[in-house]
This record gives sequence, structure tokens and C-alpha cells, in this order.
Amino acid sequence: MAAALLAGAGGEVGLRAAVAASASSGHPVASDVRLGGDASQTRFVVDLSRRVGISAFILADPYRVVIDLPQVAFRLPRKAGETGRGLIKAFRYGMVMPGGSRIVIDLAGPARIDKAFSLDAAEGQPARLVLDLAATDRESFMRTLALDSRVARADTTRKLETVVRPDGDQRPVIVVDPGHGGIDEGTHAQNGVTEKVIVLEFGNRLRERLEQSGKYRVLMTRTDDSYVPLGERVRFARANKAALLISIHADALPRHEGDAQGASIYTLSDTASDAEAARLAEKENRADVIAGVDLTAEPGDVADILIDLAQRETRAFSGQFARALSGELKSVARMHKNPLKSAGFRVLKAPDVPSVLLELGYVSNRGDLKQITSEAWQSRTSEAVLQAVKTYFLTRLAGAAP
Ligand SMILES: [Zn+2]
Repeated sequence: MAAALLAGAGGEVGLRAAVAASASSGHPVASDVRLGGDASQTRFVVDLSRRVGISAFILADPYRVVIDLPQVAFRLPRKAGETGRGLIKAFRYGMVMPGGSRIVIDLAGPARIDKAFSLDAAEGQPARLVLDLAATDRESFMRTLALDSRVARADTTRKLETVVRPDGDQRPVIVVDPGHGGIDEGTHAQNGVTEKVIVLEFGNRLRERLEQSGKYRVLMTRTDDSYVPLGERVRFARANKAALLISIHADALPRHEGDAQGASIYTLSDTASDAEAARLAEKENRADVIAGVDLTAEPGDVADILIDLAQRETRAFSGQFARALSGELKSVARMHKNPLKSAGFRVLKAPDVPSVLLELGYVSNRGDLKQITSEAWQSRTSEAVLQAVKTYFLTRLAGAAP
């Protein structure tokens, strides 16, 4: 009995799946989740259609526990993860790459993993994943973390492979980067539509349009619902010697902050152009925290001085493309009242690849949501992006000063 299992930890919060899970995909199905216990000891249980191997580890600042498991079809109750109990503040779950899923638990404070294991179905109980947490202090937490990271841990996030350029193909490479993916869903519309789905749809349409022109080689950072770390997107663009990176996103404004609408185009800068740009960059840069990636492990591979020199030219080109894009979009899409902005977006940091981030609109605005999810809007907007790309490369080839 689940209740008996949790009794020692001080009771149970039951979240029943309304619909019986089906295992049609062939992957194990996670059908329910329960939290038990209090702020000194907390138990986290997930019901599974069959037992899976798991590995759990901690991350600091913010305090998190990450559980990696093989790809699982999550059919958890709709609000699962939004509220916590005891040491668990909230949690989220999803795919990190084909074949791999992850659960990221936000902790209320420093905790240690007492036990992490999975069980076969037995005695009328389904297979389960069990995580037992116990409260600890920051010092012990950080000590465990330091010891943990010395043990070689398999990096389970996606590595993008450099694509071989066909002989004699001199066309400029454009990287289309649909934001978010997998466990990182991005923003949510009132009706449940997620940013990661909208931007992938638009990204695919844009790729198709750019390819049809025959003038460019187009590479995508993701074509499915996988999570790709921000640094990996930048590395992919550089490794493929991209001439342009276009990152696709959609924004949302919390209700109490009023209403905003229209598309915006962002470029990289050290200081944000305004408070809204700063807020957005902070939100977009959180992607790796959401997915549980430890950024402190990311090595810098170029000396700072080189970055600075290359970046001046790159930034000028980025600004040039951003202006061309704004000019084209104006006539087909509703624009934000102040559409050209800049801030410290991590995905725009390639020192040698001109990069812009296009926010299609606000999913929190009903009019915008209707537009950006419509086929007609997406197709005329990708046409406008193609026109801007053409203008940009013509100007560059003509050797015009940025
Ligand atoms: Zn986004």
C-alpha cells in the first residue's frame, strides 16, 4: 500500500491520475506521483508501468535534486509538480533527449538524498521510483556536491553533431534555433499551449521557406521535443560556421503586470536596453537551471580579448540584421511598441556568429496567441524573415559598412 509505505514519513498527499495511463508509445509510463513527510524528511514516489534504472544527484544555487531515467511517457495529473510538501518546493519533468527523461525537484532548502531506488511491481502495487530526502545544512550539502562531482557522471544532455558541408556548397549557413524543448517548456498560454511547441512549429516553417529559396543551408538546433542546453546551441552554430543564428521565442507577461503585445527583436548587449529586456533575458537564461544543467561546468574556450575583438564586428552585423528584420516584419505582423531591444541573452553570445532572438509575440495576449499559432500568420511571417535575410546578405556581400 502506498499509504503504508508513506506512513512513517507522516502521511501522504495523493494526486490521482484521472485517466488510466496507456503504454502505447512503448516507453514506461509514469502515471501518478505522491509526496509524503515534512520539512525534516520527505518522500517522493512516482508510479511506473515497469521498473526503470535511475540516477539521482544534487545541484546548488538554487538547491535541486535531479533524477535521470530512461525515456518515460509522463501521464501525471495536470497540476503535478506545481505544489510541494516538506523539503520539496515544486518539481518538473520531461524529456531531455530521445531516450532520456529527467525529473528536476526544486528544494525548499539544503537536503541530502537518503535513498533513491526503484521497485518492481509487487503485491498489487505498481512499479515505483522512490526518493527519500532528509534536511541538512548548507555546508554538508556543498561538501556532498563537491564529492559527487568528482565521480564521473554521465552527461545526459544532448550533444549536437556538426553537420558535414557538401563539397562545393558555398551557401551561407543559417542556424534556426527554436527555443526551449523537452523538460523546459518555456512560457505557457492560458489555454495550456506551450512556447516550446509554438516556436518549433514556426522554426520548421521558417526552415522550409529559407530552404525553398535555394540560397541558404539551414540547420536546426532541434527538430523534436528535446532539451538542448543554451551553450550547446551556441557551440553548434560556431562549429558549423554559421553566418547567422535566428533564435525563436514567444514571451508572456504575468497578469498583474498588465498587457503587452507584438513581436520584438533582441540583440546581445552587456547592459539591457530597458527593464523589460532585462527581465526577459533573465527568464530565457534560466533554461539551463530549469533543466538541471550545471552551468559551472561549462568551459570557456576562447580568450576574452579575442571574443571582445570579434564581437564588435559580430554585434554590428547582428544589429544590421535586426533592423532589416524589423523593417520586414512591420508590414506583416503586429509589432511591440518598441520592437528593437538588447540584453545579455546567453544564446546570442557566439563571438563570431551574428545572432538575433525573435520573440514572435505574447502568448499572454489573446490576439497575439491567435495570430502566432495560425498557419497564415506563420507563413507570411516566415516569408518576411526570408526577405530580411536576403537583404542582410546582399548588403554584406556588397561590402557595405555595418
Ligand atoms: Zn523563450
